[in-house]
Amino acid sequence: VLQFDDIDKYFGETHVLKDITLNIDTSEVCVIVGPSGSGKSTLLRCANRLEEIQNGEIRLDGQSISAVDADVNRLRQRIGMVFQSFNLFPHKTALENVTLAPRKVKNLPDKEATQRAENLLDEVGLLEQSSSYPNQLSGGQKQRVAIARALAMEPKIMLFDEVTSALDPELVGEVLGVMRDLAGDGMTMMVVTHEMGFAREVGDRVVLMADGRIVESASPTSFFENPSTTRGKQFLSKLL
Ligand code: ATP
Ligand code: MG
Repeated sequence: VLQFDDIDKYFGETHVLKDITLNIDTSEVCVIVGPSGSGKSTLLRCANRLEEIQNGEIRLDGQSISAVDADVNRLRQRIGMVFQSFNLFPHKTALENVTLAPRKVKNLPDKEATQRAENLLDEVGLLEQSSSYPNQLSGGQKQRVAIARALAMEPKIMLFDEVTSALDPELVGEVLGVMRDLAGDGMTMMVVTHEMGFAREVGDRVVLMADGRIVESASPTSFFENPSTTRGKQFLSKLL
């Protein structure tokens, strides 16, 4: 579904993504781990073209995302992204947050957009909070609305960047649960997270980044039980 082909990304002189080649298959859950500053967020941001790359190509279903003439708005509709900070519209209800883009961008009639949003809010366990405003919701609830909002555009792939990092520990599980359900439904996902339990149980593959490179890419079982690189071993030894 999503292909990174030999990409390089620089911020000025700083080379932050080095020769990244990665293919995400349909329904794959690819978990990206690695130390702070290794380039995980930048990689996701390049996939959504929030950042430009300097070399290589990124494709979604064979269509270039990184080409100068790519239809960025259309591509972004097919790539859902959820960040650490929820970025909900504060003066709109949960339901309105979810219906907004389908109505504005896809011109979905109100009734259909509302129906779809209610189904999604139900799926993330928040139907009863439909008319609540973000400041009336917990962090975990806000993050679940943010996920529903991204799903409302019916994306081909979902990108998650440390979506549980800002949450109180007791709220992390409900958000990971929603992501687990989504994976179970066959959604293609790229997930940057520090939640190693999630990586192990839900991930199909774990990709370790260090210093702008992919240093290891393996099934969760082999990554956690028998990392093949020194970097992998170092990373795991720091977890406990
Ligand atoms: P963390 O785990 O802390 O979120 P990360 O793996 O997501 O880290 P990135 O945020 O992708 O790392 O950053 C990779 C490198 O790019 C870092 O050295 C960072 O300082 C640099 N960087 C990120 N964004 C910018 C920017 N807008 N301008 C300049 N440098 C940047
Ligand atoms: Mg980051």
